[in-house]
Amino acid sequence: MAKQFKPETLCVQAGWTPKKGEPRVLPIYQSTTFKYDTSEQMARLFDLEDSGYFYTRLQNPTNDAVAAKIAALEGGVAAMLTSSGQAANFYAIFNICQAGDHFVCSSAIYGGTFNLFGVTMKKLGIDVTFVNPDASEEEISAAFRPNTKALFGETISNPSLEVLDIEKFARIAHSHGVPLIVDNTFPTPINCHPFEWGADIAVHSTTKYMDGHATSVGGCIVDSGNFDWDAHADKFPGLCTPDESYHGLTYTKAFGKGAYITKATAQLMRDLGSIQSPQNAFLLNLGLETLHLRMPQHCGNAQKVAEYLSKNEKVAWVNYCGLPDNKYYALAQKYMPNGSCGVISFGLKGGRDVSIKFMDSLEFIAIVTHVADARSCVLHPASHTHRQLSDEQLMEAGVRPDLIRLSVGIENADDIIADIEQALNA
Ligand SMILES: *Cc1c(COP(=O)(O)O)cnc(C)c1O
Repeated sequence: MAKQFKPETLCVQAGWTPKKGEPRVLPIYQSTTFKYDTSEQMARLFDLEDSGYFYTRLQNPTNDAVAAKIAALEGGVAAMLTSSGQAANFYAIFNICQAGDHFVCSSAIYGGTFNLFGVTMKKLGIDVTFVNPDASEEEISAAFRPNTKALFGETISNPSLEVLDIEKFARIAHSHGVPLIVDNTFPTPINCHPFEWGADIAVHSTTKYMDGHATSVGGCIVDSGNFDWDAHADKFPGLCTPDESYHGLTYTKAFGKGAYITKATAQLMRDLGSIQSPQNAFLLNLGLETLHLRMPQHCGNAQKVAEYLSKNEKVAWVNYCGLPDNKYYALAQKYMPNGSCGVISFGLKGGRDVSIKFMDSLEFIAIVTHVADARSCVLHPASHTHRQLSDEQLMEAGVRPDLIRLSVGIENADDIIADIEQALNA
């Protein structure tokens, strides 16, 4: 679908454009396989000479329609759905890095990604250097090596809620001849367009706001098509030299701006197989149809809740980039002028025990291991995701012992604040 449509129209209309007599609503192609008339037709698909469906591990029409919608929303040229956000982040790096390679990554990222990059990818021989995203360009540049293949950051980090200076990161990446990959999960393409600020590839955990109803784990990788792989061909042999597992085809020559996503599909998805089920892609599409309505409600509610908390004397501190005294307010205004996300963190006076009592006293705001869905929810990392750590270790990991992560839903803001107030008074 053409890019001139506004995001609201893309959310509803992009990806699936039925022809005469076809279903108006995107169907679930619940089929592992697809039929052809001749052996020759099938052979051409395997040689990547024709495009078409043959096996759902590689491509499925439901998934492709949803990927096309997300690509349109991000302003990219191509996208691929994955089974989870973790799989998307793994593929995004592994598509251009192999054993012996290195990449640089902001230290303000999701804990699961931190573990994937810092522990599991190291076991595959891919090394990472974590950098403080607020450090100077010189300091961050010092982490680059001759074998560095990418720079990675998160638009708004989960759960520390730091805002990435995307333009600065893009300048650093490009001055070293590598792409900038940005995890844009928290703002979604409704609130932030990383490609307009120089990012080359965007990744998403679609599990969060995109699905938005806490029904389906999923991920997505989107390519802007802007990075010139051939200009740095020595760094990216996987894209710029013949792939022996595809009869000597060279991705950049055969697919141009589609090279990165085609390689991720034809090679990584073929071999590793973390495909999203068409059923989940269907549910993700339903979520996307209302993303443009839900994001402003999440952000408006979060702003009201953050302002309420920052005025309450029982609250020790509040972290939300929509508050003018927040460290990241100016960056948030620059990159996300219409709102950031619905996630807030805060601490209560009295520390860990008071936090636990508060959470147990909440009525409809539920204690769950999730963020970014329609229902308001809380998590206390010190008692849940990080419970094996001492208070000292928590501080080292950048998680204060009293930190409560509150994901503000799309209910009525006054009702959310009333639930918080009665729990604070309990
Ligand atoms: C949740 C999350 C992930 C991981 O996604 P899953 O879908 O849970 O695998 C990655 N990045 C960010 C920013 C997240 O919030």
